[in-house]
Amino acid sequence: MDDCIIIGGGPAGLTAAIYLSRYLLKIRLFDCGSSRAALIPCTHNHAGYPEGISGLDLLAAMRAQAEKYGTVREAAKVTGLRVLENGFAATVGAREIGARSVLLATGVINHRPPMPDALHDAALAQGRIRYCPVCDGYEVTDRRVAIYGTGEHGAREALFVRSFTRDVTLIAPDRHNLPPDQLAQLAAAGVALVDGPATGWAIEGDRLALSTTAGRMAFDSLYPALGSHIRSELAVEAGARADDSGCLEVDDHQRTSLPGLFAAGDVAKGLDQISHAMGEAGVAATTIRNMLNAETPLWR
Ligand SMILES: Cc1cc2nc3c(=O)[nH]c(=O)nc-3n(C[C@H](O)[C@H](O)[C@H](O)COP(=O)(O)OP(=O)(O)OC[C@H]3O[C@@H](n4cnc5c(N)ncnc54)[C@H](O)[C@@H]3O)c2cc1C
Repeated sequence: MDDCIIIGGGPAGLTAAIYLSRYLLKIRLFDCGSSRAALIPCTHNHAGYPEGISGLDLLAAMRAQAEKYGTVREAAKVTGLRVLENGFAATVGAREIGARSVLLATGVINHRPPMPDALHDAALAQGRIRYCPVCDGYEVTDRRVAIYGTGEHGAREALFVRSFTRDVTLIAPDRHNLPPDQLAQLAAAGVALVDGPATGWAIEGDRLALSTTAGRMAFDSLYPALGSHIRSELAVEAGARADDSGCLEVDDHQRTSLPGLFAAGDVAKGLDQISHAMGEAGVAATTIRNMLNAETPLWR
């Protein structure tokens, strides 16, 4: 039986792997290779990299660091998780692997706008599509920016971006149907409102163009504000509590409501940022170490 199984090899899972391996615990990390961090062309807000670093380079460095201390990492998807008397059993292919504790670090998947994958990926690489104004609002300072979404989420994102640029357009996937107070706030901030549907997505020159009820429009960057799928199913099916959106509830030691099951990073409720994922993982790993030590002293 392992000491801990980590599910997810993004910033949260890999940070926990580094900590737990350096606590001399027997751990195993499973990752199915779809970290959100891998989509970051170059992060400029992650501390320690004044010239920025690509998500892929950051992940590669973290993997090398975890492996240096003995982390066993498998490129595989965990498809089931069940509670045992003395821990958990994770299903991977035809195998069931037991561990005294589990850290879920499976992240989220952003809902994408209705455009071809190849175009989406090219636009993302060029910074024409962006997903995180907290991360890269700075990069759109004084640019022409669209938010693709509506409702509370879309309005909040448009108002957030407004502090970087005065040229903000909120495009509804369908039609805006916003309450009067939100309309007043957006009008006061000078955010333009355009109804969808948006069609004819294309990169034209150095802008992302699309057609709406207001005609053909082009933007330096567009932020989809369409929400995310929270990858918490394994924990929820095992019995852990999540909020309505699917984010796992954790206490200030990253413990879920299920004893022995921890969560860190985007899958847990909180700020979806690399630094936050790493911080939560450090807390989770140390709590796991202390919990295991209290059960059976980890003396050499
Ligand atoms: C375009 C973009 C730009 C961003 N820019 C920044 C930025 O500049 N700065 C910043 O701080 N943040 C940025 N973010 C956010 C950042 O990427 C996330 O906050 C961070 O990756 C969260 O880390 P995580 O480990 O929780 O999840 P993830 O990085 O998403 O990793 C989760 C991992 O779990 C694995 N997994 C999921 N389910 C299973 C399963 N069942 N079995 C096995 N493995 C599984 C996945 O394969 C994945 O590797 C950006 C995000 C995007 C999309």
